[in-house]
Amino acid sequence: MVKQIAVIKGDGIGPEIIAEAIKVLEAVADKFGHSFEYNYVLLGGTAIDQEGTPLPAETIKACKRADAVLLGAVGGPKWDFGPGHMRPEAGLLGIRKELGLFANIRPVKLFNALKDACPLKDPGEIDLVIVRELIGGAYYGERKTYIDEKTAVRTAYDTMAYSDFEIQRVARVAFDLAKKRAAAVGAAESGRPLGVTSVDKANVLDSSRLWREIVAKVRMEDYPNVALSDMLVDNAAMQLIRYPSQFDVIVTENLFGDILSDEASMLTGSLGMLPSASLNESGVGLYEPCHGSAPDIAGRDIANPLAAILSVAMLLEISFNMSREARAVENAVNAVLEQGYRTVDIVFKSEADSNSCEVVKCSEMGDLVAKVIAGNS
Ligand code: NAD
Repeated sequence: MVKQIAVIKGDGIGPEIIAEAIKVLEAVADKFGHSFEYNYVLLGGTAIDQEGTPLPAETIKACKRADAVLLGAVGGPKWDFGPGHMRPEAGLLGIRKELGLFANIRPVKLFNALKDACPLKDPGEIDLVIVRELIGGAYYGERKTYIDEKTAVRTAYDTMAYSDFEIQRVARVAFDLAKKRAAAVGAAESGRPLGVTSVDKANVLDSSRLWREIVAKVRMEDYPNVALSDMLVDNAAMQLIRYPSQFDVIVTENLFGDILSDEASMLTGSLGMLPSASLNESGVGLYEPCHGSAPDIAGRDIANPLAAILSVAMLLEISFNMSREARAVENAVNAVLEQGYRTVDIVFKSEADSNSCEVVKCSEMGDLVAKVIAGNS
């Protein structure tokens, strides 16, 4: 099968991790007889440097034409002091809006081999998914910074607004995902909690009260067999640490989702382990690791490429409908971790003390995963 992928390497460690993701895509193409064509385009800091804008028109066109978009990460201190519209983040928010990517799916899975990497004493099985609304709420609402001429007091505000249709469509993604996960788990593991937890701040915010009402309505009308519970965001932040295996699918608005998913990422040991997919109504997706451009380690070939590689697995599964290929990537990541290979961010004291792991570079980790897929390991 021939597929076109728009590739945005981005800034900082972006080019390093994307090189490994492409290596893995090529291993999949060879193994399963596909052909992936890559169209490299600019976004963020490198786009500002080369094109004078964080979101060039050509990038928008190429992403809209592609079957899927693969992104490294954007941003860095070099571009931190420009005006809002000339910062790398403006490119990221802009491409999400241009492609209508309203649902961000972030699986949080603790690999068995990384149990020691989890900061919890007894983590149990952690296998949850956060569905974050991505193009509404405070990040896109009306905002202003102004000064009162009389008092010289400076004030800034951002508005968190949600309309019913925005809540409905992301709630559907969460309920569909919960149904799919329940079907995959089957009766054998029926002890596992299944269903959707909708997270809001309905005791304080109007937008959250509408959120809660609409999510319940969607469930009642179209997903009566999927369990639904509501949780306040402050409680959810606690529960993720106290007892993460109680969660299956969490659905929440943009700002809460941003914070909760970074918190949840720590349960897997490192931000470097967390993939994500952002989807629009027609299923076109942008796939990227959850972490940023990590300027503190850029250019040293020590970044963990597994979040980018696991994002490739999501791309294969969701946008290309290639479940076998997606499983091959996930299984290869698992195998490499089970064999004791670690990038520096996932080496933990007990393993280091007992010499039971081997520290590898970013590029070596990509080679190892690709080799397992090719069947040479
Ligand atoms: P970050 O995610 O880049 O880094 C946080 C910490 O995690 C750093 O210590 C970093 O070294 C480490 N880390 C991140 N990814 C890693 C990986 N793959 N392997 C090993 N260690 C890794 O967050 P930050 O430092 O707050 O932000 C840096 C820049 O990235 C900022 O400009 C920010 O705006 C941007 N950012 C971009 C995105 C995106 O492109 N989607 C997301 C978040 C932050």
